[in-house]
Amino acid sequence: MKAFDNGKVTVIPDLSLEIADKEFICLVGPSGCGKSTTLRMIAGLEEITSGELYIDEREVNNVAPKDRDIAMVFQSYALYPHMSVYKNMAFALKLKKMPKDEIDRKVRWAAKILDIEPYLDRKPRALSGGQRQRVALGRAMVRNPKVFLLDEPLSNLDAKLRTEMRSQITSLHQKLQTTFVYVTHDQTEAMTMADRIVVMDKGVIQQVDTPQMLYHEPANMFVAGFIGSPAMNFFDAEVSDSKIRFSGHEFELNESQKATLSAYSGKDIIIGIRPEHFFAANESESTRNICKMTVTTEIAEMTGNESNIYFMINGKRHIASIKTDQKYHSGETVNLGFNCSDVHFFDKGTTKTII
Ligand code: ADP
Ligand code: MG
Repeated sequence: MKAFDNGKVTVIPDLSLEIADKEFICLVGPSGCGKSTTLRMIAGLEEITSGELYIDEREVNNVAPKDRDIAMVFQSYALYPHMSVYKNMAFALKLKKMPKDEIDRKVRWAAKILDIEPYLDRKPRALSGGQRQRVALGRAMVRNPKVFLLDEPLSNLDAKLRTEMRSQITSLHQKLQTTFVYVTHDQTEAMTMADRIVVMDKGVIQQVDTPQMLYHEPANMFVAGFIGSPAMNFFDAEVSDSKIRFSGHEFELNESQKATLSAYSGKDIIIGIRPEHFFAANESESTRNICKMTVTTEIAEMTGNESNIYFMINGKRHIASIKTDQKYHSGETVNLGFNCSDVHFFDKGTTKTII
């Protein structure tokens, strides 16, 4: 638990999480949900209001940050501007009074892995953003920590560099075989890098799972809407026996859906359909388990091999991403299809996943 202002503002009401040795785990969630606070509590930069934190078998609540065997990398790099890259990386080891030749060996080892050997004599200001972030990683690496804590380390980089650094950090994790706890608000970053992802909202863990499971079996509407890009579409719907009705459309449930949803017959629920699960449907063709809906294109975007079609239903904007070379236009009528087995069902009251 974490509260600020003498217990007046509770930011993390209750959080329980076990991170495996050598795991790459991502904390992901919208800005302000408590990711940095959680990471800072692990680092020891923020006091834990109540609860225990263990690294290996050792309770570290009262252990100073420098004695926790962790290394933190920030978005801002936090390099010393007046020191060379070499000195920045050597600094913590010097404080530990490590012998010079050993420091030299470690700095060169890290510089080699991170491909920053040519810049060891430069000052940080003479480096690009990506190079600076690699120096920050190097500074963490030389300390040989048990855990790497990274707080939005790529946020200051442009999109292309971010993608590059993503794979570099993943490969660094593989080389070092150390536990990484990585904070990001960017679900794509989390999905591409993590072994497991912790999805947080308002200080509460919503689900902890692998990227595949979060995508295919989200625990609730928050996770379903947060994971995946563009975000999942939600529609108000009604269950009536073996059918789902929503905004003038209906489709037949399959056997397992029917069984699970029987308790909801006659009730309002929410259904979720991912944009990429829509396809352009042939009007005359009728196939079992394919549901069709006719929509009016509000805006159409072409992204090469894909068209994003935006359409409004009951004042809410929805999106279908269709694999096609065809260009759609605003105002155009489109027949969308989706497979009934790709539909997610949510309890309208609790927002939890039904099936
Ligand atoms: P995130 O990293 O997910 O964006 P943070 O952990 O930084 O979120 O913040 C979570 C919440 O805690 C926010 O509402 C923020 O305003 C609040 N908060 C963070 N630090 C403090 C502080 N020192 N005092 C009071 N509130 C804080
Ligand atoms: Mg943060």
